[in-house]
Amino acid sequence: MLYQAFLIKYGEIGVKGKNRHIFEDTLVSQIGNALKPVDGEFTVRKENGRIYVEARGEYDYDEAVEALSCVFGIVGICPVVLTEDEGFEELAKAVVNYVGSEFPENELCFTFKVVTRRARKNYPMESMEVSAAIGEKLLEAYPQLRVDVHSPQLMIHIEIRNKINIYSRTIPGPGGMPVGTAGRAMLLLSGGIDSPVAGYMIAKRGVKIDAVYFHAPPYTSERAKQKVVDLARIVAKYAGPIRLHIINFTEIQLYIYDKCPHDQLTIIMRRYMMKLAEHFAHEDEDLGLITGESIGQVASQTMQSLAVTNEVCTMPVYRPLIGFDKQDIIDLSQKIGTYETSILPFEDCCTIFVAKHPVTKPNLKSIYKSETHLTEKIDELMQEAIETAETIRVEQMG
Ligand code: ATP
Ligand code: MG
Repeated sequence: MLYQAFLIKYGEIGVKGKNRHIFEDTLVSQIGNALKPVDGEFTVRKENGRIYVEARGEYDYDEAVEALSCVFGIVGICPVVLTEDEGFEELAKAVVNYVGSEFPENELCFTFKVVTRRARKNYPMESMEVSAAIGEKLLEAYPQLRVDVHSPQLMIHIEIRNKINIYSRTIPGPGGMPVGTAGRAMLLLSGGIDSPVAGYMIAKRGVKIDAVYFHAPPYTSERAKQKVVDLARIVAKYAGPIRLHIINFTEIQLYIYDKCPHDQLTIIMRRYMMKLAEHFAHEDEDLGLITGESIGQVASQTMQSLAVTNEVCTMPVYRPLIGFDKQDIIDLSQKIGTYETSILPFEDCCTIFVAKHPVTKPNLKSIYKSETHLTEKIDELMQEAIETAETIRVEQMG
């Protein structure tokens, strides 16, 4: 294996003042979790404001890079070659070999700069000297290269530690903040395109995710439920393990269908979904709810509908997609890998009971009035939904 380690670059978390170590420690532990399913053994450690991942022996490079590129908080992943300190000539050879193996021969015609750092001050040469001398060796070995100290196409980093680190390439990470640094929130996860993306976006800010899914058996099938579990597994690749509550919503839906005007069905249903989601959010010590809503996307997401839905919530509701066009959401879902699962054609509890002409500008007073028709049984049905909920721990796919 060419690379024995990765240097992890992190952006935003580097500027958190006194709390910096909390962010770094969380990032270290998230990197450890992400690498668990990867073939190989790794040590993750902090050193001088940096994070290193070192492989202990052979490992699967592609799997490791793929796992690291899902860890929020990482902005760059630099594959590093480690060599023993056996004097300058050996180091020069190692750098020449490194550059030769990073690029095919016909691409060895760029401008470069060597940057040396001595973490170990007893090294017999100054940093600048090392850089200049290595630069010369590279020019000798690859005459098509040119030095450019101001805006080089390639920066070759040499860090002199116990071992010597050589790296030049940065693979982009997902950015954001390490999951676990910002509390937790309850995602309303349906089988659609939007809600998995919403969960991803909030997790990216460091929030740990719990989830609720409402199903309506026998109107919605076991496969529709499995699809939601599969989506949660994909989101868990980024967000870590997800506690998923699966709530049987059938009786509540049928009751609303029976008692309320059909053009208000979706709105009233959504109000009860929010209430139930909040119940589980309190239990899980969540600080907010997350939905995949976006203004104007459907009748239940007009400004008026959102206001009426929101009215039952006492917790903040985070709607990270609120200003996104559908195509933007689709692009993101393709990028994070949920799209193909989201578009599988299984029925959703919202679509089964949907009215032909749902209200687009619901009036709160009129909704209150309709909801008075539910007083007899709704509390009991809500309680039953809570008691019969099934909770599973969803781990990342792999
Ligand atoms: P999605 O693609 O997320 O399903 P959508 O465009 O189909 O969104 P709606 O079905 O109106 O929109 O739902 C809006 C939001 O309500 C969803 O993004 C999701 O957060 C939540 N939601 C809808 N149905 C369910 C459900 N069956 N279980 C859990 N949450 C749901
Ligand atoms: Mg939906």
